[in-house]
Amino acid sequence: MNISTSQALFEKAQNFIPGGVNSPVRAFRAVGGSPVFIKSAKGPYIYDEDDNEYIELINSWGPMILGHGHELIQKAVSDAIQHSFSFGAPTRREVEMAELITSMVPSIEKVRMVNSGTEATMSAIRVARGFTGRDKIIKFEGCYHGHGDSFLIAAGSGAVTFGTPDSPGVTKGVANDTLTAPYNDLEAVQKLVDANKGHIAALILEPVVGNMGCVLPADGFLEGLRKICDEEGIVLIFDEVMTGFRLSKGGAQERFGIKPDLTTLGKIIGGGMPVGAYGGKAEIMNWVSPLGPVYQAGTLSGNPIAMAAGLTMLNYLNEHPEVYSQLELSGHKLVNGFRNSMKKLGLNYTINSVGSMYTLFFTEQQVTDFPSAKSSDLPLFGKYFHAMLDRGIYMGPSQFESMFLSTALEDSHIERIIQANEESLQEVIG
Ligand SMILES: *Cc1c(COP(=O)(O)O)cnc(C)c1O
Repeated sequence: MNISTSQALFEKAQNFIPGGVNSPVRAFRAVGGSPVFIKSAKGPYIYDEDDNEYIELINSWGPMILGHGHELIQKAVSDAIQHSFSFGAPTRREVEMAELITSMVPSIEKVRMVNSGTEATMSAIRVARGFTGRDKIIKFEGCYHGHGDSFLIAAGSGAVTFGTPDSPGVTKGVANDTLTAPYNDLEAVQKLVDANKGHIAALILEPVVGNMGCVLPADGFLEGLRKICDEEGIVLIFDEVMTGFRLSKGGAQERFGIKPDLTTLGKIIGGGMPVGAYGGKAEIMNWVSPLGPVYQAGTLSGNPIAMAAGLTMLNYLNEHPEVYSQLELSGHKLVNGFRNSMKKLGLNYTINSVGSMYTLFFTEQQVTDFPSAKSSDLPLFGKYFHAMLDRGIYMGPSQFESMFLSTALEDSHIERIIQANEESLQEVIG
């Protein structure tokens, strides 16, 4: 495969951009080699600067749930552009967006728009701290909540990939207010809560983890957290930046039937534009400025172009429940195909999946938390990644990522992915 244009761009990029990329995982460091630079994408396909075609399994880390370049979203954006790009003043679409989000996500009564998932989680813990008058938060090892200081403690995804889970530049004071527990370990949470009685403002988690690879909540885990938070007056925050509008119309909270107090959203909510949101119980959200004393603002928040894309995306998902049945079916077909191939090859690696998210872990252990995810053979994953790329499958370049299916994948694409997976496994196992 010729990727010489990408290689030249990457070489040049490294002179001007730290590591040559604007977000670390893109640099392919975890899998070796040079990242491909993307020129365009349409439907299930993405094209690099050397015109290689790949089938998409990243989908912008989730937002392209309908595939690339969906006509309705393209039209909404080009219509919106005719009326200027930003006003720094309230607009009609923000109201429609807020109303739609509260109707789709079961626990959200009021919502504030921001520009990224990172902003959403930073703001959510601030309002939880203001509301409770407490300082500490609990997060789980391997969960990623964006790059806010408070969350770069045992963070998943990119931070894990580079072995810097605790970033320099985060002060001890901030780090001391973040307590961590192993995912799926209710007992550890109860112990933390008991040892810090009356000091914990919020407990934040990915209700299904995407950022240590795909990891599901054990039976009773989410219920148990809900109970502990109720007993102790702790604000339960579901970070649904990845799972929101993906695992169902109302996210993981609808799928698993547990209502958090606050929810953070991102990725799909912008239809590919930079958008995030946080929302939840009115009695908590009423603490946000200008109604309440907790300050949070944004020059470009609720940006009209971004709202046009996001609103069109959410309206489409709201009106087309068949999106979710199609994604479930695609997920099943893909994972069944992978399992059949492994059986044929005598392999017993772990596949975690839910709906349109999955990760093939190069370990035979069940993956239920961060240590078990880390038992994966990372060099083997790197070889597998490149074997897949060579066969035209564009995957997240780290073992600690989930793949994301879109509705643009037809049976023929799924069969191609299954075939490429089988050949790649055969190649790397030797
Ligand atoms: C991607 C992600 C974030 C961060 O969102 P950005 O838009 O990248 O800032 C936060 N939480 C979760 C669960 C994510 O997957």
